[in-house]
Amino acid sequence: MPPVTPNLEAILDQTLEVVWLWDPAGRRPVYVNRAFARVWGRPAEAFLQAPCAQAFLRSTIHPDDRERYGRSAASPPADGAAVEYRVLRPHGEVRWVRSRSKPYLDHPTHPGGGGWVIAITEDITERKRHEDQLEAQRKALEEAYLHLQEVVVTDPLTGAKNRRGLEAALERAVDDAHRHGSPVSAVAIDIDYFKVYNDSFGHPAGDSVIVAVATIVQRTLRPTDLGARVGGEEFTVLLPDTDRAGAEAAAERIRRAIAHARWQHSPVTASLGCATWTPGTGQSPADLLADADRALYQSKRDGRNRVTHRADMAEPATAVPAG
Ligand code: GH3
Ligand code: MG
Ligand code: MG
Repeated sequence: MPPVTPNLEAILDQTLEVVWLWDPAGRRPVYVNRAFARVWGRPAEAFLQAPCAQAFLRSTIHPDDRERYGRSAASPPADGAAVEYRVLRPHGEVRWVRSRSKPYLDHPTHPGGGGWVIAITEDITERKRHEDQLEAQRKALEEAYLHLQEVVVTDPLTGAKNRRGLEAALERAVDDAHRHGSPVSAVAIDIDYFKVYNDSFGHPAGDSVIVAVATIVQRTLRPTDLGARVGGEEFTVLLPDTDRAGAEAAAERIRRAIAHARWQHSPVTASLGCATWTPGTGQSPADLLADADRALYQSKRDGRNRVTHRADMAEPATAVPAG
């Protein structure tokens, strides 16, 4: 058998990667294999025989990638450089490629200096497409996650926070209060004789009242306060950095706004109960919401459409169900 003489050019023409040799001093290509035509969609001669091969090549690169390509390709460092860019094929098709280039210093015609640049360019369009898909999926998941985080703390009827949202806000408010030594108040709100309203005017009319009360509550609050729908016709307002007088004033504003609003079918009122917790007084912040509820029941017992602060109640109030 004759010895196998490797025909390197023939072998290189079989590779999927584009293989280049550049003479940067003469700014001209020395060699490019056949893969060029497959990736660039143009015959290699169009490039090799162009009056200015560099300008020709530049014109086939996506305008947004030209600067990046130019920086990397012009004179790669001894340990090589890599750059990813888009190739514009004829008829508008775009291919992503990754080029690695490196000085080829040992060429015999350039002893000790000058030298060529050897580059290998790989078509990474599929990989990029896959990466783009993964990125789009990651973004969609992130958005869905953020949306879900909102949904689990939101009441769908009114758009106000729900009990879970209230509890999270209470935790944050208690942390802040510990840091600043400031009081936190809560106001429990329950619409009066709401069963009668529903029975008289129907459930949808009742729902509109619940939505309207949520709006009224929201309108009376400061940006740092939080109004939550914690039951069918029950709301709780959390007032950070608010003492007893501030809580009573806020509750009274809400009571009056509900009682004086123009209601479609018949007047609507609510009963309210306030409680205040101050750090360092030996009270537990865990009692704040229950205390506001107790004060609310007192308002019901006293005739409804009124505000009671827990601190004004004869000790200890026994909880009675609203109704
Ligand atoms: P009280 O003054 O003692 O609070 O009387 P009430 O009738 O409001 O109290 P009760 O707790 O007995 O009834 C609450 C009613 O609220 C029962 C139900 O008909 C109504 N309700 C609860 N959730 C909803 C809701 O989501 N939509 C509507 N339309 N009604 C609701
Ligand atoms: Mg009620
Ligand atoms: Mg109720």
